Amino acid sequence: METNKVVIKKVVLACIIVILMLILAVIYNRILTNRKEEVDVLQQVFSNIEKENTAYLTLYTIYGNHLNISGYIPLNLISDVNIKDIKLVLQDENKNEKEYNLKYSLEGENYIFKLSENINEGINLEKLTDDNYFIFLKIIQNVEENEIVKYFSLNNASEYEENEYYTLTSNMINRKIDISFNNYQYEIKETPYSLEYIQIKVAQTELPNDVYDIVIDAGHGGRDPGAMYDGKEEADITLDYSIKLKEKLETLGYKVKLTREKDEYIDSYGEHGRATTGYEVKAKLVLSIHLNSTVIENPQGGVEIYTSNNTNLDLAKSFADNIVSYTGTGYSPNNIARVLDGVYVRTYTEQEVQEAIEYAEDLGYTPYESLSTQTPYLFMIRETGGIMTHAYIDGRNKTLDNNPYIDSNIAPEAYLLEIGFINSQNDINNLLKNQESYINAIVNSIVSNYQ
Ligand SMILES: [Zn+2]
Repeated sequence: METNKVVIKKVVLACIIVILMLILAVIYNRILTNRKEEVDVLQQVFSNIEKENTAYLTLYTIYGNHLNISGYIPLNLISDVNIKDIKLVLQDENKNEKEYNLKYSLEGENYIFKLSENINEGINLEKLTDDNYFIFLKIIQNVEENEIVKYFSLNNASEYEENEYYTLTSNMINRKIDISFNNYQYEIKETPYSLEYIQIKVAQTELPNDVYDIVIDAGHGGRDPGAMYDGKEEADITLDYSIKLKEKLETLGYKVKLTREKDEYIDSYGEHGRATTGYEVKAKLVLSIHLNSTVIENPQGGVEIYTSNNTNLDLAKSFADNIVSYTGTGYSPNNIARVLDGVYVRTYTEQEVQEAIEYAEDLGYTPYESLSTQTPYLFMIRETGGIMTHAYIDGRNKTLDNNPYIDSNIAPEAYLLEIGFINSQNDINNLLKNQESYINAIVNSIVSNYQ
């Protein structure tokens, strides 16, 4: 009996070992096959790039839903020939190419290139379908009578590593986009070479609980009532509007977060702060809702939409135009910082830059490096845009903390909507009676912008 038991045990043990080895062999084989497939794809993708053709990426940013890229190509790699064009190529695994025009110029020893001067332009990440993409440069040259094309790989010379982006919810579907920098090693006649490349991986995913599409910021709140007129407070009206705006956007499938849900004073930079929430939840869009006010009563009223400089103004213009046509209000008569009817781009003046720096020095702060006449003046636009909008630590107010996202190269696109004047009888009546029209105007601008 005893011996039989021992034999059975041994047989069972041997069986388990054999099964485990089989499983390991299958896994190993699968890894090898995957690895081979990966190498084959890269071999295909990189077959157009000669080993020395390397350009350098100095910065990449994602503002709203656009990826923008800038960098340089050393002149010695492309000298002595006429450059006809330089393009950015987005290539998928099947070698399908999508080309983007680059702005480029010769500066010293390098060709400097940039996808767009506008921070909300470039590669629209919302439009990418599920695939694995690679980014290259394509240089078209005229040599005598012939046109020659050279492909360049891109080395990451920026201080930013990989990043992730979640697309806006559309028909209950989201995609995760992983931007990463990898290395392709290969050999030619036993000499090893390596090419660095940017990879964009797009795949459908379930949106994580803490990721949102849009953040709505109800201006002011708590001990800060904002503008007041005739017993009404700006903070109450902006909260009511923000809640309704959230509800309407949610019926269309968007996932929306409010910076505040009740009459409370909220922090600027702390956890769930006014400026930080948009970054925390990886929002693509931040709308800060305000009511305007003038020193003397303003019978005319009107709308003012504020956004960052160096942006494409289409969405800002759409907010202004839709509000005017849906509600019967007008464009604000204010012409300070106005760039289009109803659209305003307010940056620091020379004098304000000087004053802010002096004030910071008086308080013992280090003067702001990123502060210039290109810096957006309004807090919500500046501080929710990371490096794209020159976010900086606001030393004018001792109680404000530091913006932890000051160096972020990925940030939501921010708009401040002065939807009407609280001290215009015309506007305030309209705002209180005609709320649905204002909400529809804003929502329809968002929907058509992201179609
Ligand atoms: Zn306000």
